[in-house]
Amino acid sequence: MKFTTRTLSNKKSVALVAHDHCKFDLVNWCKSHTLSLSKHILYATGTTGHLINKETGLTVQSLLSGPMGGDQQLGALIAENKIDLLIFFWDPMNAVPHDPDVKALMRIATVWNIPVAMNISTADFLISSPAFQEKIDIQIPDYQNYLNERLK
Ligand code: PGA
Repeated sequence: MKFTTRTLSNKKSVALVAHDHCKFDLVNWCKSHTLSLSKHILYATGTTGHLINKETGLTVQSLLSGPMGGDQQLGALIAENKIDLLIFFWDPMNAVPHDPDVKALMRIATVWNIPVAMNISTADFLISSPAFQEKIDIQIPDYQNYLNERLK
């Protein structure tokens, strides 16, 4: 498939997800970056989002809890180009019941080429990049072109 350009605006839609053993790390990370994060639109899976809101006061659009479909909701938003960046602290040491959904979320984030952080140091890299606060172009699959070619 060919690629086309998608512009991420300076105000980004940021998705936040943490598995249970990683929630403390994500909440602490959010506490360290509350000011930067407050300039964006925040989405999260259910428990993660409520916890971040309670601990930091940040406004978060909380979807369903991950095991109840929250990862899939985020995946759908990514496929619709409604999420610009994903911070996903998944647990490398414990199995989760919704592993297929976790895999699907990682896959769709890669398909649509959004910036993804899966650990604290990468999240630090992303949030300290000028691109976090500025407009930036990314390359995404040119689905419309693909469709036009297929329907010729
Ligand atoms: P939670 O879901 O925020 O509802 O705990 C996260 C996940 O397990 O994907």
